[in-house]
Amino acid sequence: MSSWRERITENLTRIHHRIQQAALSAGRDPSEVRLVVVTKYVTPDLARLLVELGQVDLGESRPQELWKKADCMRDLPVRWHLVGHLQRNKVRRTLPLCHLIHSVDTVRLLDELENEAQRLDLHPQVLLEVNVSGDPNKHGFAPHELPGVIDQASRWQRVHIAGLMTMAALGHVGQAAAADFARLRQLRDELKARVPVGHSLQELSMGMSGDFEEAIAEGATWIRIGSAIFDALCDPANQVNREA
Ligand SMILES: *Cc1c(COP(=O)(O)O)cnc(C)c1O
Repeated sequence: MSSWRERITENLTRIHHRIQQAALSAGRDPSEVRLVVVTKYVTPDLARLLVELGQVDLGESRPQELWKKADCMRDLPVRWHLVGHLQRNKVRRTLPLCHLIHSVDTVRLLDELENEAQRLDLHPQVLLEVNVSGDPNKHGFAPHELPGVIDQASRWQRVHIAGLMTMAALGHVGQAAAADFARLRQLRDELKARVPVGHSLQELSMGMSGDFEEAIAEGATWIRIGSAIFDALCDPANQVNREA
């Protein structure tokens, strides 16, 4: 465990350095870029370590795993981020645990979040996931659906839309990933003027271990990193949970 501690500490330091460099080379203030460490590869014990290192923004891609870790880590000041698909029947249990839901992908889910937020007296922050590459295996709104969603956003009074989220298309690295991220930023810029009061599109959640520097160059405000922190722990044999 102590050697994992050293490796994770080292990796986290290295990532912070790379974030700072990427922001500075893009002419951005590094404090505009915030990091979510995605803990889906590791047990709650290892996830605790991150919090001890001062990394309180943690993410999970599966609601059940988020419930489990949030329960094991109740004593710690974690801000939980859901970064994967949320089914409507899991909203009630997930909503009170989350600081930010990055992966809202349907109007029906927005309606369900609004209902539960009223019931629980919460004001949740969410991002709209956008399938910029049109990959049929990915969740998210199609870019052409977004204007319609934004135009009806005043009906969500409790739920606060705070921005957009995307993933680069499978196989897109380097310039190709950068183009996917640029597309999300352009969509945001096109939509900004029609956002109703109570909502905003300030946040852009984009960039993972393999492409976060490209995402920062294109304006990411949240990056979501797992494997670059946990390296060998992401080996499938060690994985507690995998993306479908
Ligand atoms: C797993 C996951 C990440 C982190 O990916 P890495 O490549 O391990 O950094 C980010 N976002 C989402 C939605 C994920 O499911």
